[in-house]
Amino acid sequence: MSTVLVVNSGSSSFKYQLIDMDTEQMLATGLVERIGEASGRSVHTIPWDAVPSVERSNAPQTTERILPIPDHTAGFRVMLEAFETHGPSLSRHPLGAVGHRVVHGGKRFFEATVVTNLVKINIEELAELAPLHNPANLQGIEAAQRAFPDVPHVAVFDTAFHQTLPPAAYSYAIDAKLAAKHRLRKYGFHGTSHKFVSEEAAKFLYRPLGELNQIVLHLGNGASVSAIEGGRSVETSMGLTPLEGLVMGTRSGDLDPAVLIHLHRRAGMSFDDLDTLLNRKSGILGMAGVGDMRDLQERSDAGDEVAAAAFDVYTHRIKGYIGNYMAQLGRVDVISFTAGVGENSPEVRAAALSGLEAFGIRLSDERNEERSRDPRRISTDDSEVDVLVVPTNEELEIARQTLAVL
Ligand code: ADP
Repeated sequence: MSTVLVVNSGSSSFKYQLIDMDTEQMLATGLVERIGEASGRSVHTIPWDAVPSVERSNAPQTTERILPIPDHTAGFRVMLEAFETHGPSLSRHPLGAVGHRVVHGGKRFFEATVVTNLVKINIEELAELAPLHNPANLQGIEAAQRAFPDVPHVAVFDTAFHQTLPPAAYSYAIDAKLAAKHRLRKYGFHGTSHKFVSEEAAKFLYRPLGELNQIVLHLGNGASVSAIEGGRSVETSMGLTPLEGLVMGTRSGDLDPAVLIHLHRRAGMSFDDLDTLLNRKSGILGMAGVGDMRDLQERSDAGDEVAAAAFDVYTHRIKGYIGNYMAQLGRVDVISFTAGVGENSPEVRAAALSGLEAFGIRLSDERNEERSRDPRRISTDDSEVDVLVVPTNEELEIARQTLAVL
């Protein structure tokens, strides 16, 4: 198999990447958005290093089209046209498979799975647990199957990597019958990223994955942390939904559930109001009015005390989880930071790890400030715990798992 197309579909958009699996090089990436609106948009990009050198002088890197895109099926036609017109040609790089990101695999899916009609029924049925994501993922799968009827399609689930959590970690301490009836438990998300980063960390350290105890901090707009023992996820911060755990761009993360009851009773907020409040208007946006970490840090640097306080809440929560997971693992060999904030904010990394020297965690200020797109060590040579920055690549991980299952 030479190439895998990776698709991440939302309800009104999808992103794609074409990856050469011999070299693991990305050949093209793109976005089709505003599907179903009066005017849609498609963007198709060929990375510089994927363009043959003889064609470079006039090779358009990024091409954009604005046109009505009534549904996902039309969206895939637009994508195919982009490949035909701007390359790379899908006849020269024949597609071996399509890998689809699916958010919720419930208890059923513990690994990447070839899409069959039964799998699609299961994904649809799990929409009860992920009403915003699973139906949109399924729309993408069906449209892609129409566009590429002759290649296998594989579903790669965000929850799958965390299926190894023990009951003590995944159970909520509520009425057991109610929990079972409504499938209430911790599932965990960002599994593709936690798996990828933990494997890359082991490669970087030249150590077998099986002998490492790891903590992975995925800090993007959404954020989660996981404890990984010998390559198996044993704890993670997101729960039934991606709302639990760390402070995020617009999501609250952990809070006393009584806050909801209180706001319902005292402030007359409906359940939809509370859903919007906690998922879209909380986190650093709720505390400081900006949901983007760069803006928050700029304001904090400029002396804005509200922004500084929100930054402290954000990093205090991370530190608490590190302590928790160190205790759960007993011994930690490596802590890795990844995703937009984790890869790019030395300030967040330094604040989250400050004062942990007694636990064998020593950050090198100089290494922490270095910028790079490669995995790197940011702890001192005498730190007992290796602290790394490991850029995540969820698309590549989906492509790898797609290939592996076939
Ligand atoms: P998503 O979860 O949407 O994939 P990303 O992983 O791209 O998100 O992370 C987005 C976050 O990364 C934003 O909050 C953004 O501010 C933050 N970020 C990106 N670059 C920097 C930077 N240089 N310093 C601090 N934060 C950054």
